[in-house]
Amino acid sequence: MSTNYPYYPARALVDLAAIRSNVRALAAHAAPVAGRSAQVMAVVKADAYGHGLVPSARAAVRGGATWLGTAQIAEALALRAAGLTGRILTWLYAPGAPLGDVLDADIDVSVAAPWALTEVVAAARERGRTARVHIKVDTGLGRNGLLPAALPAFLAGAVAAQSAGLVEVVGIWSHFAFADDPTHPTVLAQADTFDAAVRLAERAGAHLEVRHLANSAATLTNPRMHYDLVRPGLAVYGLSPVPDLAGPQAYGLRPAMTLEASLATVKTVPAGSGVSYAHAYTTTQDTTLGVVPLGYADGIPRHASGSLPDHPGGPVRVGTGGAARTLAVAGRVCMDQLVLDLGPDAAEQAGDRVVLFGDGLDGGPTVQDWADAAGTISYEITTRLGDRVPRVYLGQD
Ligand SMILES: *Cc1c(COP(=O)(O)O)cnc(C)c1O
Repeated sequence: MSTNYPYYPARALVDLAAIRSNVRALAAHAAPVAGRSAQVMAVVKADAYGHGLVPSARAAVRGGATWLGTAQIAEALALRAAGLTGRILTWLYAPGAPLGDVLDADIDVSVAAPWALTEVVAAARERGRTARVHIKVDTGLGRNGLLPAALPAFLAGAVAAQSAGLVEVVGIWSHFAFADDPTHPTVLAQADTFDAAVRLAERAGAHLEVRHLANSAATLTNPRMHYDLVRPGLAVYGLSPVPDLAGPQAYGLRPAMTLEASLATVKTVPAGSGVSYAHAYTTTQDTTLGVVPLGYADGIPRHASGSLPDHPGGPVRVGTGGAARTLAVAGRVCMDQLVLDLGPDAAEQAGDRVVLFGDGLDGGPTVQDWADAAGTISYEITTRLGDRVPRVYLGQD
């Protein structure tokens, strides 16, 4: 939490046992295909998709991940500083990045452009180290990476640096544009382009340790794409990367995060009362309102505001036992709070626990339900969870 003060009226419970078990499930998905078994790199970028970088990374390692992956250099360095000793790959940086620090921390580094190789080589020379590099190829995503046409010249430079002892080309890697649509024609086309890049690198003199292409969706749905290493992120946290195909349970995954809050104010209001900014919601009967102390500054999407009947808001589980029910946010999500219409017979009181999302096994709302309510993907819900919401870790072993 950003202020380090221990009180907050809401919290994100992160079940580390779920993360361990999800990684074990992913390792089973990556288990021998045609006699070959792929390792698992748990992607822990963006504060482990909002779950907390270091505790999540430790749990992933306990679950069997032999690699950790981060977009940002700062995240990779934080893992090392916390004492994680396994292989780490970091892949997103701009000219002038502190690559010497990356090499000193024994972190593998992606190179996605000629300038990046130049800077890695300079850092290796300056620090007296050999950089382990993974060449990122743009096989069709149209994002980071070298286009295939640029590869031959690039490989010549990389292999020359390898001969000089400054780098070791240990990986070729790429990323899919349509991994969540496993039969999309671009998937096989990207794999063909990837295979050609691997052959080119090997012929140029690279001794590849890992070829890797699969994110969560490809890990779960497309064994042909596993190669030597899979790079799941979302699935590590128990969320389905292919919600239109199947939920997490179908893949042996369990959502790790539960977001809960304590009701701040509970009060009765008459029918016809406007609720929250611009009165986007109006009560239709004498009823009870409950104020939930979470808002868009905590990462609750304002797009999940509710103006019945045309646009129900994001779901919140209220009550326990027979009184348990899932309500939709009433009116605008504000910066720090949102409102529920608890109904005329509500027994809830200030201080009672409500759940915005959890593992869904009790029929309660999930991260995916919030993504649907906000017109986005589950990734955005957990990664945007506010820094000020405390993470409480369960299931430590
Ligand atoms: C984020 C990321 C991943 C993980 O993707 P998921 O869809 O969360 O599994 C894998 N590889 C790269 C390059 C990424 O940026």
